[in-house]
Amino acid sequence: MFLNILHYILYMAIYKKVLFNGKITTYHRMLIEKYLGLTLNQKYVVHHIDKNPNNNKLSNLRIMTRSQHGKLHSPKPKYKHIKCHNCKKYFNILLRKFTFKIKSGQNTFYCSKGCHGNYRYKKHDKLIKRELKNGLSGYQIAQKHNLNKATVYNHIKTIHL
Ligand SMILES: [Zn+2]
Ligand SMILES: [Zn+2]
Repeated sequence: MFLNILHYILYMAIYKKVLFNGKITTYHRMLIEKYLGLTLNQKYVVHHIDKNPNNNKLSNLRIMTRSQHGKLHSPKPKYKHIKCHNCKKYFNILLRKFTFKIKSGQNTFYCSKGCHGNYRYKKHDKLIKRELKNGLSGYQIAQKHNLNKATVYNHIKTIHL
């Protein structure tokens, strides 16, 4: 495992490791094991309650499972409170999702897929009505605005009713 004695010393110092009961462990883990007089199973982690790795007082150490420990250290997801472009209601979006979308050029947001579809529908409806008044056919509207022909015809059907 170690290239030489210098490597060993550096490793122990940098990762704050100690040799205890014939195995390399962390200093705070060793403290707990010494205190309890047993060797902790590998599925347990010794956590610093105040999150300061140098505060190795027994009262600052807590034994927990790896999964509990992982949850404790992973930050809670952050949300942004924004207005839906369709229904104008405020909703929460994951902050990283929001940032990603802004970066990729999106500037309108919807509280649901339904609201997004609803907005698109209203927008198409207005556009298609206008173009019909201008005398364009469904086919021409689809071509001009790069829309699906079926979408355009579906709108026309409702408009003529
Ligand atoms: Zn911890
Ligand atoms: Zn909405």
